Amino acid sequence: MRNKAIFFDRDGTLNVDVHYLHEPEKFIWVEGAIEAIRWANAHGYLVIVVTNQSGIARGYYDEAAVHRLHDWMNMELAKCGTHIDAFYYCPHHTEGSVPAYTKQCDCRKPAPGMLLKAIAEHDIDPAASFLFGDAESDVVAAENAGVQGVRYTGGSLADCVRGAVR
Ligand SMILES: [Mg+2]
Ligand SMILES: [Zn+2]
Repeated sequence: MRNKAIFFDRDGTLNVDVHYLHEPEKFIWVEGAIEAIRWANAHGYLVIVVTNQSGIARGYYDEAAVHRLHDWMNMELAKCGTHIDAFYYCPHHTEGSVPAYTKQCDCRKPAPGMLLKAIAEHDIDPAASFLFGDAESDVVAAENAGVQGVRYTGGSLADCVRGAVR
């Protein structure tokens, strides 16, 4: 049997969007985010983050900083007995300042590249999976990958997840 997953956008969905976040000190969990992740774990879903990180292309921070932040997130979640199974990020942007990352890519949402990669690497059934994100581009990326996309518009993320996943 293939796996099922709940994908989450990061900034504005799991954490308060402070723009180009890369320092744990500035990370604030959204209401119900940890509870939503725990619920997904408990209901047999892989939890996978898919996040556009154009700050890398813009030279605001590097890939190592993103990995450090994601490791920190999982350390915090471990204290609450839960975890994120995988993180995917897009470091690209067409108007970057770092040549290696300045390009049109197929992974920046609304393109589905990050989801398609996760689906292949984790043997995920897209039709049994969901994505939650605060932007229309998240929902479009999900639909482009055959995953049900749900717009998170505020309030408890856990309530949003429990209401949509059945
Ligand atoms: Mg967002
Ligand atoms: Zn990309």
